[in-house]
Amino acid sequence: MSCKGIALVTGAAQGIGRAIALRLADNGFDVAVNDIAVSAELQSLVEEIQQRGRASSIHAADVSQDAQVREMIEAVVQNHGGLDVMVANAGVVGPSGMVIADVTVEEWDRVMNINARGTFLSYKYAGLQMVKQGRGGRIIGASSLTGKQGHNAQVTYSASKFAVRGLTQAAAIEFGSHGITVNAYAPGVIETPMFFGLLPGPEMRDGLKAQIPLKTFGVPTDIADFVSFIASKESKFITGQTISINGGLFFD
Ligand code: NAD
Repeated sequence: MSCKGIALVTGAAQGIGRAIALRLADNGFDVAVNDIAVSAELQSLVEEIQQRGRASSIHAADVSQDAQVREMIEAVVQNHGGLDVMVANAGVVGPSGMVIADVTVEEWDRVMNINARGTFLSYKYAGLQMVKQGRGGRIIGASSLTGKQGHNAQVTYSASKFAVRGLTQAAAIEFGSHGITVNAYAPGVIETPMFFGLLPGPEMRDGLKAQIPLKTFGVPTDIADFVSFIASKESKFITGQTISINGGLFFD
């Protein structure tokens, strides 16, 4: 299959990011992968992408750090010759059950810096590169169900995921005339290491599952299926949207 373009996925060592990286490789993209540090998981992901006949490379960086994100995009362009799809997937949750009274300034800054500032920096440097290339592009962010409806046990996380939606809409307006679309996914409950950390016990999981109309949790490939489409040429008239993927747990 000829190369469909060059993609970069942040937070790709595990969970949703890993599934997205593999799906984009299956779709014919060369896929550069990022996480906070080089790891065996990231190295095995690169091998899996290469086994699919696609080029890949590791770019360890902290997405909340301006210079690191700028240099990461520069390195991807140098390695692969450009950037067509940016998936700003990296994110963190806070400890579950923290209400406003419990949230310290340090905890607020930690989660906001990775989820909101990290997405802003990814959008910014990817968007500037795509504008410079002049061949359009796809920018995709990670919001959440809690970015659509506030959650009192995830105060900072919820605020950070609302920020991703606002940023996605503003960036869609700014980059639209360059043929660059900007959209985000808003997952409900997806079985990943993040999810298993938040809902460790079977009782909590069963209670939550019962509330989901489709009576199942999502899996990382459910998000990758969406990204597969929104990264494609066929999604060209969709921009500024944050799409819920949640088994019906919340309706827009
Ligand atoms: P995960 O915790 O399993 O994986 C996230 C990855 O991001 C990890 O590999 C982690 O090392 C990386 N990361 C964290 N901080 C980083 C940083 N500063 N720089 C670079 N990489 C960093 O999470 P997941 O469940 O796969 O979630 C992926 C995205 O989807 C996140 O943005 C998350 O908030 C969002 N999301 C997940 C769910 C869910 O149910 N799993 C629901 C809604 C939204």
